[in-house]
Amino acid sequence: MMTGLRTIKDQETAIAILQRGLQFDKLHHAYLFEGPPGVGKQLTALALALAINCDSEKDGCGECIHCRKLLKGNHPDYLELTPPDGKRNILIDGVREAEAWIRMRPHEGKARILVIAPADAMTESAANALLKTLEEPRRGNYIILVTAASSSLLPTVRSRCQSVRFHALSEQTVLEILISGGMSEDDAKLLASVSRGSMETATQFRSEEVSGRVALVSQLLEGASSRIPDLALDAASKIRDRGEAIAVLELLLVVMEALLRIRAGARSDSGTKLIFGDLLGKLQNGSVQIAASHVAAIHRALVSIQRNNMNPQLALEGMIMNMRSRQKDDFWSRIGAK
Ligand SMILES: [Zn+2]
Repeated sequence: MMTGLRTIKDQETAIAILQRGLQFDKLHHAYLFEGPPGVGKQLTALALALAINCDSEKDGCGECIHCRKLLKGNHPDYLELTPPDGKRNILIDGVREAEAWIRMRPHEGKARILVIAPADAMTESAANALLKTLEEPRRGNYIILVTAASSSLLPTVRSRCQSVRFHALSEQTVLEILISGGMSEDDAKLLASVSRGSMETATQFRSEEVSGRVALVSQLLEGASSRIPDLALDAASKIRDRGEAIAVLELLLVVMEALLRIRAGARSDSGTKLIFGDLLGKLQNGSVQIAASHVAAIHRALVSIQRNNMNPQLALEGMIMNMRSRQKDDFWSRIGAK
């Protein structure tokens, strides 16, 4: 159970900065918590609110009235500003309301804490409206901006906050959190291994968005190894935007890496099905050399899209062709060897 900053995992540097601020009464009035998604930034914001408002301890006892209300999400001096349900952006109206709120004295606790997450969801006008309050909120109140994409914040917003950096969690930490949430050890191990240190990535493998991607990945791989490439090209044509192409390619890498691990003797446990369904079973016949060359082709496509700004469609088609030619080579070399 989370009760304070001391319980946040794998973010020693960030926590040390905040603990020093608390200890010497030198907290900054506006923080920017930046780092990958799903590594504890919002949890840390809440932990800081506990530490500030707790009645009995310097770091949140978890039991006093303030701690309990904060943990339950009904403390009147803690506000999370997020995009409205079903929307992507935080609009100027939302920011104006939050500003009026943070300018008031705390109702019950020692300080009001406003958390804006994700801060990069603010429209430009919303962000501009926040500038003055970011510079001088009511004395003793705090604003915490949370983002996984700080480069997309206005420089004027960034410069008014003290930056606190967060990093990827260790695989072991992701594993422990998943198990403590009630997941079986096998499933948790698998998800942790593909999480890249992010709880968000680990849990999104169970979402619908990702099952759609798994279907695309499956078509790409089947099409790449069948006589006619139509299935793969068709799958590629469904992927229109750059972000989606990158997500699918990264998932493809995860699949190929899992396949190589299984080929290297790792147990293919029930958890594998959690993500990939029958896909890995279908792929088990291909050679390790093919899998390895597929990995190289996927990497090339990723680089083309990410660094060289290549049209995602072209990059994907190129990848499919690369995969197919390697497959042919393999076929001829096997024939030749006989
Ligand atoms: Zn307390």
